[in-house]
Amino acid sequence: KTFAEAGLPEKVLECCKGFEKPSPIQSRAWPFLLDGRDLIGIAATGSGKTLAFGIPAIMHIMKKGKNKADRGRNPLCLMLSPTRELAQQISDVISDAGRSCVVESVCLYGGTSKGPQISSLKSGVDIVIGTPGRIQDLIEMGFLSLKEASFVVLDEADRMLDMGFEQIVRSILGQTSSVRQMVMFSATWPSAVHQLAQEFMDPDPVKV
Ligand code: AMP
Repeated sequence: KTFAEAGLPEKVLECCKGFEKPSPIQSRAWPFLLDGRDLIGIAATGSGKTLAFGIPAIMHIMKKGKNKADRGRNPLCLMLSPTRELAQQISDVISDAGRSCVVESVCLYGGTSKGPQISSLKSGVDIVIGTPGRIQDLIEMGFLSLKEASFVVLDEADRMLDMGFEQIVRSILGQTSSVRQMVMFSATWPSAVHQLAQEFMDPDPVKV
């Protein structure tokens, strides 16, 4: 299958230029995600999972037709990651892909100064990618609101819980839009992850 056969519109095909064809996880996930379904993915890094959720995220934003002026501090899309390294990797893939569609993203993680992150939020972003602690901090400081976040991704959910982020992840997810599409990726499927999925996802998410 080509990217065009996968149902991606012309403008979005630009996001994938440089790649020959969709990866298996992308071909499987896109039809469901573009249809608005919640989705649980079991996939390893290197499978192309970032664009598996990244392209539908970008299309979600384009569909809402927002422009930079009214993005404000209310991003439409949130991508949570357990570590700074993974957040940065996701951010690199998303900012490359998002460029041709004029989608703005920011990567928020701890251990570094908040100043530049706050400046990006002030200039308006569509997608927030980051780790739970810093995201919560910036919400509490009033620089970020998730109330319009209607496309939400939890990456490496099992690792997130292993690292002790369960309460803070619950709190963050609870602040996103109640009308949201949710994607969860995990390498394993322990009961704590299952519970989180039950709590925040549609009763019958697609599994790929
Ligand atoms: P990920 O599994 O998301 O960490 O992706 C690993 C790498 O694969 C990233 O550097 C992507 O740029 C690349 N990638 C994503 N989609 C494709 C594709 N369809 N074909 C080839 N490489 C891809």
